[in-house]
Amino acid sequence: MRSMKRHEQTVAGTREVVQLVRGQATSDGDGVRLTRVIGGRALGELDPFLLLDEFGSDSAADYIGGFPSHPHRGFETVTYMLEGRMRHRDNQGNEGLLVAGSVQWMTAGRGIIHSEMPEQEAGRMRGFQLWVNLPAKDKMTAPRYQDIAPERIPLARTAGGAEVRVIAGEHIDADGTATRGPVSGIAIDPLYFDVSLSKGARFEHALAADHNAFLYVFEGQAQVGDRATAVVRGDLAVLAPGDRVRVTAPAAAARFILVAGAPLGEPVVKYGPFVMNTRAQIVQAVDDYSSGRFT
Ligand code: FE
Repeated sequence: MRSMKRHEQTVAGTREVVQLVRGQATSDGDGVRLTRVIGGRALGELDPFLLLDEFGSDSAADYIGGFPSHPHRGFETVTYMLEGRMRHRDNQGNEGLLVAGSVQWMTAGRGIIHSEMPEQEAGRMRGFQLWVNLPAKDKMTAPRYQDIAPERIPLARTAGGAEVRVIAGEHIDADGTATRGPVSGIAIDPLYFDVSLSKGARFEHALAADHNAFLYVFEGQAQVGDRATAVVRGDLAVLAPGDRVRVTAPAAAARFILVAGAPLGEPVVKYGPFVMNTRAQIVQAVDDYSSGRFT
């Protein structure tokens, strides 16, 4: 009873910014230049989120190498393409083209081997890849893909002047209008919105009080929370506990992704593309992969 009361006291209210994180420039795959925002030195992990990369370049040299064949086990990769085209192929014969505005939510589960290669030799490539952890009970589940075409991602226009692409979770406007994203059946009950604010617009929305949440501003600048913390392009804001989020754009237009999910509270042992709960499971993953058991 007492703990419940304390719980309510600590989580009600607007989420404020507890940490601002700048991504670090790095490269991955075959020389793809990107910015690692989660999964680097500044923010190693935000349970259940293991990694967030932003990629974006007009120069083919920065992305043309792509991500040749590599494995994953124990988590999910979420690719959101803003511009450009990427071809996906895996060792089970699955293939798909990720076009601008599309999302691929891939549950690697017990293991896939895939490649992610640009389907263009020039022009702009831009987007995000997020790694979402799986609970221990689901780490060896069968692989699953949700390939979502741009037209399947609904757009909610709010009374506050925000435009919200609802990728996962449910957007509920001030008048009660609900817009549900197409991603389904994900363990951490994710919310993934792409929010555009024109100058002077505001975005307010409920968030599950027990979920971890962040937003990442990738265009312009915004102010977050009742304290109006400034968050500029390239900043990731880790949000404090609370049951709603409030973002305004008084100085300039802003665009950001808002992501939330239920923390797992389980041990995380990472080794490159394998994310398990124990070292023994990592040794097993390496052995399974090198013995050709990712089938
Ligand atoms: Fe991959």
